[in-house]
Amino acid sequence: MSNQSFASSTDLADRSQTLEILADGVYALTADGDPNIGAIEGDDFVVCFEALATPVAAKQWLAMLREHTAKPVRYLVLSHYHAVRVLGAAAYDATAVIAHENTAALIEERGLEDWDSEFARFPRFAKGAETIPGLTRPTVTFADRLTIDLGPTRGPLVLEYVGRGHTEGDIVAWLPNQKILYTGDLIEAEAALYTRGRIPP
Ligand SMILES: [Zn+2]
Repeated sequence: MSNQSFASSTDLADRSQTLEILADGVYALTADGDPNIGAIEGDDFVVCFEALATPVAAKQWLAMLREHTAKPVRYLVLSHYHAVRVLGAAAYDATAVIAHENTAALIEERGLEDWDSEFARFPRFAKGAETIPGLTRPTVTFADRLTIDLGPTRGPLVLEYVGRGHTEGDIVAWLPNQKILYTGDLIEAEAALYTRGRIPP
């Protein structure tokens, strides 16, 4: 265990969050350098992409989303296992939580360790941590590709595994009709792909 202190561990200020409408029924929550997340409307349900770090943070995002749609969240998609993206899952009441099969395995293998590590490194994400009921476990997993039919007017949402990258289980969400791609942590603004100092095995 190193005593190294990350620069971010004293960074407690909230980043400003902005709901952006990317296309009709397609949303992003951008957070000034923090992880961006999203939501996609189907004809009669919503797909949320990423859960945020705590149910408290997720409820703030859902309140912003609810100004645009009242449809229930049927699917919560997790791009990878990292704590700041998955531990808010309980707030969504999603019918299914979807992730890659490697992500399900990584949550069992190192989910608790990552929870401790990320909340220590980024204390501002840990606000409301007492509302986290436990590790987030996907209820639906896949190996290569999973397509969600958003309905006749909106087309498909394609979830796809594109190989090992930021972790061993990253997936992207692609809207072919709208030509919009959600990438999780596979792409970061003004930064190279972060693999925590190692090439995934
Ligand atoms: Zn990550």
